[in-house]
Amino acid sequence: MGFKNWGGFVLDENMAKTPENAYQLLEQLWKPSLKVAKQEAADLQAMIDSEKGGFKLEPWDWRFYSEKVKKAKYDLDEEAMKPYFPLEGVRKGAFALAGKLYGITFTERKDLPVYHPEAQAFEVKEKSGKHIGILYMDFHPRPGKRGGAWCSNIQEQWIQNGKFIAPILYNVSNYSRPAGDVPALLTPDEAETLFHEFGHAVHGLFSNCRFRGSGYVAQDFVELPSQVMENWVFEPEMLKLYAKHYKTGEVIPDALVQKLKKAGNFNIGFAWTEKLAASFLDMDWHTLTDAKPMDATAFEKASLGKWGLIPEILPRYRTTYFAHAADEYSAGYYSYTWSEVLDSDAFQAFKETGNLFDPATAKAFRKMLSKGGSEDPAAIYREFRGRDPKVEALIEKRGLK
Ligand SMILES: [Zn+2]
Repeated sequence: MGFKNWGGFVLDENMAKTPENAYQLLEQLWKPSLKVAKQEAADLQAMIDSEKGGFKLEPWDWRFYSEKVKKAKYDLDEEAMKPYFPLEGVRKGAFALAGKLYGITFTERKDLPVYHPEAQAFEVKEKSGKHIGILYMDFHPRPGKRGGAWCSNIQEQWIQNGKFIAPILYNVSNYSRPAGDVPALLTPDEAETLFHEFGHAVHGLFSNCRFRGSGYVAQDFVELPSQVMENWVFEPEMLKLYAKHYKTGEVIPDALVQKLKKAGNFNIGFAWTEKLAASFLDMDWHTLTDAKPMDATAFEKASLGKWGLIPEILPRYRTTYFAHAADEYSAGYYSYTWSEVLDSDAFQAFKETGNLFDPATAKAFRKMLSKGGSEDPAAIYREFRGRDPKVEALIEKRGLK
């Protein structure tokens, strides 16, 4: 079909367009990640030495010793954070964010049918009162319900015989139930998840496309609308809006937030290095032009050696059990990283205005979301940002400098 290799074929439909572009992005993050990872390895070795371990750090020691270093350095108690993140408050926070950005409103509709008594239906409307769509939210585990958190739709937006069909979406999750007189409380991670899935819903709600299925967007773009929402979750201006103690109404203290932010980037060199190593491995396999059988271990060794991976870290997946690379994420593992570059770069656009809720930036972002998969994602991103995405915002956010 005219492509040099499988990677070229797969990426042609993605935002990255070519394996060369994906490599270029990965390499920009690889160097700073590896540098931080080397420092982390030294910290772990120091911990081993301080305990008179008498051995050199190996890959299988990493997680054990990094937990020890984390406890010694940060001592982050997630339980102490939870009272500031009552589920109801976090949900209202997500709605408030969409309200501040886009002027839209969410009204619970008890008159609408629900698929389970625990699901809540919200009507989403423009500031003018015009109907946008319906969003169901279903938060707690119960027998027979799948685990995890996700967003999907009951009815996609499309135009049927000239008539605009409004979207009906749902956010499903499995947060702990209220217990006695304590409401359902979320960990900071769970709060982030709520905003993430809500971001997917916002993407679907803003869809304005001709054809059914236009919500299916490129693999390296699909997490942008969701991940971008995570950027607001722990910003002080945002926390003031929603992170209030369920008993006293007190806003989460700055000291706790700072602790949380610092701990969030702990071990980041390791996390990025193992993820990027797996992305390189996936792409190295899928840009082969010769289909002759080969020794997977030898190939892997040569591939990772070329990138300079340190012996204390292994790629997140080895070739022989790298399910992503053999399935729908073949030549696509890089897209997790690509999406993170996009969400940080997009959030930076708000920051640059000096207003995290800047209406003009939000309007441009909404326009991008309205296009679904109907246009080239690289082109619609360029229209929003005025340029191609850059890695700097992500490097800054993750402390990889
Ligand atoms: Zn997602």
